Amino acid sequence: MKLNSKYLEGLRIRPDEAARARESRPRCDWPGCDEAAEHPAPKGRDREGEYFLFCREHVRRYNKSYNYFSGMADEELREWLERNVTGHRPTWKMNPRAHANGGAWRQTAGLGAGWRDPHGVFGSVRREGARPRRKLPPAVVAALEALGLPEDAEAALIKARYKKLVKELHPDANGGDRAREARLREVIAAYHNLRKARLV
Ligand SMILES: [Zn+2]
Repeated sequence: MKLNSKYLEGLRIRPDEAARARESRPRCDWPGCDEAAEHPAPKGRDREGEYFLFCREHVRRYNKSYNYFSGMADEELREWLERNVTGHRPTWKMNPRAHANGGAWRQTAGLGAGWRDPHGVFGSVRREGARPRRKLPPAVVAALEALGLPEDAEAALIKARYKKLVKELHPDANGGDRAREARLREVIAAYHNLRKARLV
């Protein structure tokens, strides 16, 4: 029997969708590595609740250099990673919040209180008291949702929620519950994405 391609087409993920799905996954923090990252690794004793995310190969290499007695990764490696992690992969060239408010808002904001825009030429000018609407990429919205946060959540709220969730879901607190471990991974990955997007 010949398969009807019309039926198949609806089922197949189109390349652009596949690419978007890939994009929304966090990338490995190892400098130069672009693999999907699913393995959190603690940054160290003085950075509780902070994790790198690595691919399988690099979490192994990282763990090898991790000193369980001092609770710290080899200092040199850790410094090197932290220097490079934020700089080497320009995932976000600009702060999406600044971008969302738009250049127009910035220009008109300096024109004083009497200035009006009756025809809505500068559509992004916000009304007095109205919250600025951020236009966030889907991956960032998904990350906020994973933390149970609304799209307009500010950095302080994001941080507080993340800390609370990590504390609740931490293996020490849940007796090795696998479902919670998966949720912890999800929370860490979401926070990681928000940091890359510079929302925190
Ligand atoms: Zn890697």
